[in-house]
Amino acid sequence: MRIETIPVGPLQVNCYLIADADSGRTLVVDPGEDAGRIAAEIRRAGFEPCALLATHGHFDHVGAVAPLRRLLGEIPFLAHRDDLFLIDSCRQAAARWHLEVEDCPAPDSFIEDGQVLEVGSLRIEVRHTPGHSPGGVSLVAPGHLFPGDTLFHRSVGRTDFRGGDPEQLARSIRERLYSLADATVVHPGHGPTTTIGEEKLENPFVRG
Ligand SMILES: [Zn+2]
Ligand SMILES: [Zn+2]
Repeated sequence: MRIETIPVGPLQVNCYLIADADSGRTLVVDPGEDAGRIAAEIRRAGFEPCALLATHGHFDHVGAVAPLRRLLGEIPFLAHRDDLFLIDSCRQAAARWHLEVEDCPAPDSFIEDGQVLEVGSLRIEVRHTPGHSPGGVSLVAPGHLFPGDTLFHRSVGRTDFRGGDPEQLARSIRERLYSLADATVVHPGHGPTTTIGEEKLENPFVRG
């Protein structure tokens, strides 16, 4: 597996390229902005994108879906059904931050808890981890976790946006993420990487 991190946009979302090292098949996670830079990085790495996936529907994570698809060709866009209301209104949400993004297309298919995505020979498990948003998901690859805005280095996702729920967020983190091996490397939606073991001990918001 190869993982490339591209921080994009004014909110510095980590757009991740999760690639199967053998085939180059690649899942593009959270293309929030800077479609041109993401496409250039995919070309530079020699990757072959097979799908775009949003960990959740906030505009900073889906803002470049439309322009990136124009650059990469019509590959499918995947997200959880419960964040459709956020995806549908992402341009208006960005405008409230005085930012501009294009309308995001509706997902081509909805991803669900327990679903396994096959990216070349890589198997990536989808875990529904609501709390930051109703349809937030985390992706579990061997030894690596991509929790979107659910869990950060020494922090957790905000729950004061539409559909947020602090108790649900804590439950998602304790039951669905802290149950992973301590050595699991965490690649959050913003900011630096961490590990499950470190966050269980050091996270000031949700202890393991
Ligand atoms: Zn978010
Ligand atoms: Zn975010």
